Amino acid sequence: MIVAMQEHATEDQIQHVIERLMNLGFEVHRSTGARQTVLGAVGVRPEFEISDIEVLPGVGEVHRITSQYKLAARGFRPEGTVIKFPNGVTIGGDEVVVMAGPCSVETREQIFAIAESVSRAGAKFLRGGAFKPRSSPYSFQGMGEDGLKLMREAADKFGLLVISEVMEISQIQLMLPYIDVFQLGARNMQNFNLLREMGKIRKPVLLKRGIAATIEELLLSAEYLMAGGNYEVMLCERGIRTFETYTRNTMDISAIPIVKKLSHLPILGDPSHGTGRRDKVPPMGRAAVAAGADGLLIEVHNCPDKALSDGAQSLYPEQFEKLMGELRLIAPAVGRKMA
Ligand code: PEP
Ligand code: MN
Repeated sequence: MIVAMQEHATEDQIQHVIERLMNLGFEVHRSTGARQTVLGAVGVRPEFEISDIEVLPGVGEVHRITSQYKLAARGFRPEGTVIKFPNGVTIGGDEVVVMAGPCSVETREQIFAIAESVSRAGAKFLRGGAFKPRSSPYSFQGMGEDGLKLMREAADKFGLLVISEVMEISQIQLMLPYIDVFQLGARNMQNFNLLREMGKIRKPVLLKRGIAATIEELLLSAEYLMAGGNYEVMLCERGIRTFETYTRNTMDISAIPIVKKLSHLPILGDPSHGTGRRDKVPPMGRAAVAAGADGLLIEVHNCPDKALSDGAQSLYPEQFEKLMGELRLIAPAVGRKMA
């Protein structure tokens, strides 16, 4: 950590900061300039808050040099994490993997029809919510276990893996037999009790960025999972809330290369929640792959106009097929493969 004192900081103030740092266990290196003193504090303690130093009299700026997350940091596995599934699909390697399906499982006919079309178009995972986090308590809340059963059946029939959202601790055991990846939704990114429990299981987790979460907070949430022993974590940029009202969220494409630099964990893009509008999904999906995403999570519905959730952002099957064709051209241009 670097502590730059203000230009007019007194010697007493500087000494006070040095003592405080030493009491916290840091080794302090002082550099006294003609106008300003800079302190280098070595030996970072993870639980330490830089704001405790920022508020001390005479302090100008404080910069953390090492990150608070260790296991999620790129340096922990410089070569990158590759998550392997029993059917040979890998996430985080050369391949760009697409997970597609409805926002919610609604009926048997719906999920089978969608599974067939996304599989034909080249998706590797069937996505679909059985437990839905809805802004209104009066909106459709999901089919629960019946929805999971249908998803598993449809996915098995069409050679797909299953990803579905877990909303609370009590659903974990119930979901295990039906799914291949747990989706941890944006609203639960900082549900630390749920993160801790998910850290104890041995099944991959896709952790979505919270609607107002910084990239550092996303990585710290991944650290919760990894600290519990679950190293099969992938991240997902799904748009953040900004002042812009034209789109549902603002898809932060820059998060993709930033996460790639800071972390070894795979990162996917979700242009459906990232934009909230069907016509904006293909361009942002293409952009995410061009920016280096390891995969995409895309909402597709056989009849979006009648969807019980997120119809406006769900692609028609033909649109999805066209997008997959475009992604097959983009992936090799950025050194990736797409089956
Ligand atoms: C979803 O994938 O349908 C969903 C609810 O996502 P998010 O948590 O990103 O809102
Ligand atoms: Mn949705």
